[in-house]
Amino acid sequence: MIRLDGVSKRYPDGTVAVHELSLDVRAGELVVLVGPSGCGKTTTMKMVNRLVEPTGGRIFVNGADVTATDTVKLRRGIGYVIQNVGLFPHRSIEENVAIVTELTGWSKSRRRKRAHELMELVGLHPGTYAKRYPHELSGGQRQRVGVARALAADPPVLLMDEPFSAVDPVVRSQLQDEFLRLQHDVRKTILFVTHDIEEAVRLGDRIAVFADAGRLEQFDTPAAVLGA
Ligand code: ADP
Ligand code: ADP
Repeated sequence: MIRLDGVSKRYPDGTVAVHELSLDVRAGELVVLVGPSGCGKTTTMKMVNRLVEPTGGRIFVNGADVTATDTVKLRRGIGYVIQNVGLFPHRSIEENVAIVTELTGWSKSRRRKRAHELMELVGLHPGTYAKRYPHELSGGQRQRVGVARALAADPPVLLMDEPFSAVDPVVRSQLQDEFLRLQHDVRKTILFVTHDIEEAVRLGDRIAVFADAGRLEQFDTPAAVLGA
């Protein structure tokens, strides 16, 4: 579903962020990229949705080379969740969730219904939260809105870059539990970035362990990574 084939990224200043990286994410699989800060995790993620252009190798999403795919079309099939989810402060929670469905041509009531379903799915009761504004939510709740929004267009692929890292450990653990239940139902193909090995072991079907400078050290199941 996602395949990286000898992918490298050297930034214009000469920094080699990723070095000849090959890995794959199967349909419905959650692969976690784990490693120290600066090892190239975010760069790897951003090459998949073409926020960053590789300087070597090839990337395929759904069988198609990303460089040969129209960027708008590519990104429509990829939900993206980042650490501090950028919500629109002057839009309500339901509007924030529905924002990506504005391009679908759906009626307003259908879009609202979809937004409420998604809020329910991530554990935010729409009766309570639909009309609230981002500043009225906790950090953990805002991250849930980010996950709901990423799922709104029902993309087969999700890219998640430290989505639960900015909240306290108790909330993080709760978000991880909820997310595992959600993934059990929706079975997205997911690349998930974290610097937290515990989180990687808990969530990953397979774990890609990075060493410095975007070199893959190990790519295996959590049990195998822990046993090594
Ligand atoms: P991680 O997500 O693992 O923290 P990044 O992919 O953000 O790592 O960064 C990998 C390396 O590339 C780091 O050395 C970082 O400083 C560098 N880097 C990231 N983005 C840029 C950029 N736009 N220009 C130059 N160097 C960058
Ligand atoms: P993260 O750990 O999530 O990658 P960073 O703080 O490393 O966050 O990077 C934040 C932003 O700054 C990213 O968009 C990244 O591409 C950019 N960046 C990181 N390192 C550099 C760098 N050395 N030069 C230019 N931009 C960079």
